[in-house]
Amino acid sequence: MSFSKKLKQKLRSGLSFLHRDRPAILGFLFHGLFEDREEIAANHVDAQQAITREQMRLFIEIFLEAGYDFISPEQEDSKLTTTGKYACITFDDGYANNLRMVALLEEYDIPATFYITTGNVEQQECFWWDVVYRERIRRGAQKTDISREQKMLKEKHHLDIITYLLREFGDTCLLPWSDTDRPMTIEELKEFSAHPLVHIGNHTRNHYLLDQYGYSEILEQIQLAQIDISNWTGRTPVSIAYPNGNYSPVAAKAAANSGLQRGLTLQKIKNHPPMDGNFQIGRFTLWGNQEIRTQCNVFRSDIPL
Ligand SMILES: [Zn+2]
Repeated sequence: MSFSKKLKQKLRSGLSFLHRDRPAILGFLFHGLFEDREEIAANHVDAQQAITREQMRLFIEIFLEAGYDFISPEQEDSKLTTTGKYACITFDDGYANNLRMVALLEEYDIPATFYITTGNVEQQECFWWDVVYRERIRRGAQKTDISREQKMLKEKHHLDIITYLLREFGDTCLLPWSDTDRPMTIEELKEFSAHPLVHIGNHTRNHYLLDQYGYSEILEQIQLAQIDISNWTGRTPVSIAYPNGNYSPVAAKAAANSGLQRGLTLQKIKNHPPMDGNFQIGRFTLWGNQEIRTQCNVFRSDIPL
């Protein structure tokens, strides 16, 4: 981190003592949950926030110590109070490494919500951004060039992204390498979802960035995932996490018309009850390469990041 960024963070952290812990619902987004730094360094996935189990533990303890209740974004409004301080742990995509959360959820007796891209689960195919990342890393590419390529691909139709991957990296490039990169299986999801502390949400069928598609394609992506999840788990999600956080009014309309009541974005904002009908719920992101406590202090304040 640059000196000026560090200084700014310190300043925000200091100021945040003055404006901390006003009643709100704070959402947090995670992707993978890694055993340790070595697993991240193996470069099987683009680790994104790169949060290890120990960092997750620290994050949970900081919020528990500060008097927060952990809830799911699917928590019924009747159980929320306007004076309550709530935190929501959410994981996007459906990585098998998320199954590691169960031990922590049990230890602290807190819930978490997992937003599943059902096509990857069913096909047992890796997520496209991980394929780009690991294939380029093993060819010696620089991380800045890899993220430029990922950004370029995000502009394309999903089917064109897959065609691009197969052409660039070969027919087997989507196959998992390990438990780090693979999506959970249908069987695993079934068992996982039956756990009382685990909630399952919609993350579309194929991770379409919904603001880039028309209504009918959006509706299909959302409804297929609703059907998959209810077929596999016997429960129908109440909330959707828009892939990549890409919200649009059309996506919210399609979600509402698919029976969903809540939508999660990546806007760095605090939320307030009621949650039903809120299709722009904000979430914060915690980074494994920065001090966890400092970041938590900033999230808990009313100083915008
Ligand atoms: Zn995602």
